[in-house]
Amino acid sequence: MIEQGVSLKNYNSFGVAAEATLFAVAKTIKDLQSILKDKRFTSAWILGGGSNTLFCDTPKAPIIHLAISGIEITEEQRDDVIIKAGAGVNWHKLVLWSLEKGFGGLENLALIPGNVGAAPIQNIGAYGVELQDVFESCTLVNRNDRSIETYDRVACQFGYRDSIFKRELKHKAVITDVSFRLKKENYQLNTSYGVIAQLLASKGISTPSPKEIANAVISIRSTKLPDPKQLGNARSFFKNPIVDHDQFMQLKS
Ligand SMILES: Cc1cc2nc3c(=O)[nH]c(=O)nc-3n(C[C@H](O)[C@H](O)[C@H](O)COP(=O)(O)OP(=O)(O)OC[C@H]3O[C@@H](n4cnc5c(N)ncnc54)[C@H](O)[C@@H]3O)c2cc1C
Repeated sequence: MIEQGVSLKNYNSFGVAAEATLFAVAKTIKDLQSILKDKRFTSAWILGGGSNTLFCDTPKAPIIHLAISGIEITEEQRDDVIIKAGAGVNWHKLVLWSLEKGFGGLENLALIPGNVGAAPIQNIGAYGVELQDVFESCTLVNRNDRSIETYDRVACQFGYRDSIFKRELKHKAVITDVSFRLKKENYQLNTSYGVIAQLLASKGISTPSPKEIANAVISIRSTKLPDPKQLGNARSFFKNPIVDHDQFMQLKS
């Protein structure tokens, strides 16, 4: 569906009421391929949940909003399960879905705004866990020839808030779904970051479940910043500096 003069107010976490001259919604890979075939969308801006996008003015580029839905289990092994989520699935809803199923791996990433399709772009991370720790693969559409490709973890070249999608593939690929390898049992839980362990201990929880860790993360995150739905914000937009060991020891002393 292609529309003209669409308000972007509900499509970005700042609630900026910029207007898209051309706005297309892709609900399937086929939709996306046919939108990309339209020459007017050659240099379109790809929009997910709009929590890392700040519209300052009327965007010059047309907008393609990724709204591919669906979460499914694609493979099950003894300890692990592989789940696939569409690019348009809200990230936190995916986390809650996985916890309801009893799967571990996404708990520390609870309450990160945005959609699944954007998560690999900056290798989202929080509270000691990054997307790459649970990433299996993603499907993408090459914007040049509209071919469908699959990228595994190595191909994505993840780094600290970084991936190939911010470098060689910047504006060249559209992610349509992401697959994650989660744990059904023998969870590898991480409570060492920040005050997670402290908060759990204060509730008398010594061997937490993934859900209890997620609840701790949600509670910590909720005290730090207003929900962007209540008050538009972009949280922090800096990266932690990376220093070498000598500098680290110097700063520590
Ligand atoms: C309150 C708040 C808290 C946050 N906390 C964290 C945090 O703890 N950790 C963290 O890592 N980040 C955090 N962020 C940043 C943000 O949540 C992430 O960057 C998130 O992945 C953005 O998702 P989105 O769908 O909103 O992306 P958008 O803003 O829609 O897009 C972001 C970028 O990705 C591109 N893009 C979007 N979808 C696709 C796609 N399907 N294919 C190709 N390119 C695409 C866009 O063109 C754009 O360049 C926070 C942001 C806010 C506002």
